[in-house]
Amino acid sequence: MGLYIHIPFCKQACHYCNFHFSTATKYREEMVAAIVREMGLQRDYLGGADLETIYFGGGTPSILSEKHLEAIWSEIHRLFSVRTGAEITLEANPDDLSKDKLEFYKRLGINRLSVGVQSFRSADLRLMNRAHTPEEVVLALDAAFEVGFEEVNLDLIYGIPTSTDSEWAANMEQAFAFPINHLSAYALTVEPKTALAHFIRKGKYPPVEEAQASRQYDQLMDFAKAKGWEHYEISNFALPGKEAIHNTAYWQGKKYLGLGPSAHSFDGLSRQWNVANNQTYMRALSSGQLPAEREILDVQTQYNEYVMTGLRTKWGCNLNRIKQFGLSYARFFRKEATAILAEGLMIEEQGVYRLTPKGYHFADRIASELMVV
Ligand code: SF4
Repeated sequence: MGLYIHIPFCKQACHYCNFHFSTATKYREEMVAAIVREMGLQRDYLGGADLETIYFGGGTPSILSEKHLEAIWSEIHRLFSVRTGAEITLEANPDDLSKDKLEFYKRLGINRLSVGVQSFRSADLRLMNRAHTPEEVVLALDAAFEVGFEEVNLDLIYGIPTSTDSEWAANMEQAFAFPINHLSAYALTVEPKTALAHFIRKGKYPPVEEAQASRQYDQLMDFAKAKGWEHYEISNFALPGKEAIHNTAYWQGKKYLGLGPSAHSFDGLSRQWNVANNQTYMRALSSGQLPAEREILDVQTQYNEYVMTGLRTKWGCNLNRIKQFGLSYARFFRKEATAILAEGLMIEEQGVYRLTPKGYHFADRIASELMVV
């Protein structure tokens, strides 16, 4: 079972971001207390099962002080049983990663780092309003490997208007020059109401071109393949056997508990999500209330979720699993899949349907064709 903890603070707002975070970091102490309280209220959610993975995400978990992280850590160990060898990941931004901090993480028991690099190029970082410089990325990564982290993921963004295809290739080269074993890469997307959308509308920034993102995604798939890496989820690549266990559990429909504002949980039958507002979250927990909503998943939703997540991974969608939702779903899936297979966007082997590299470009469209509405 997995435990996710959402740390909803960031130093500054990246222009493209639509995650839940606040730059009002003065509430860190109160937030940590609220998360600790929530943990107490939700301790039975996973039915007493051992934790196989713990994931500190955000926001920016590396913004927490040692004292705050220790408070959450000790409560986890007081309330849950953490399996020996559990994967324990912390998301960090390069500008937070001093050698002292990294040594603290190592002592504490964090064994996997996910570093929000996004780009090694200053023009890209400036456009996205990232808080770090390329030099800080290199210093942080050098320090992480020197301290002895062996499980390191980098996040990169492609399709940035300030990077040509050859500059993106150089960016990938630079990432793979470090002894990382995992890479998450996302296309720069312009979400409504973000600063990026505003600046593009005003003509301050050039538009984000879909064709560029599409070309650079192809470059990435070819590059990772040539290096012998597995493309195991639409946006995730790893050395064989180094897939992220925590995230894979989401895609495989396993149970997890999410703590903190905006965090989601899944118990196998229902989804639950916390309010995405720091003040509302902290106020509710200070009076012992869980600020969450819950939805019980009917069969149709379970089928749709299975198709949507399965298609995004190398494990694909298994017709035998689909039959468990009902034979009518299996019939529908096979019928709709025919044209997608004929277009070369998907392949079928022994009842398992997987997207091809070409199909990954159209994953959302394909999923919507295979979903029952
Ligand atoms: S650091 Fe991450 S969560 Fe925070 S604003 Fe930037 S992209 Fe969003």
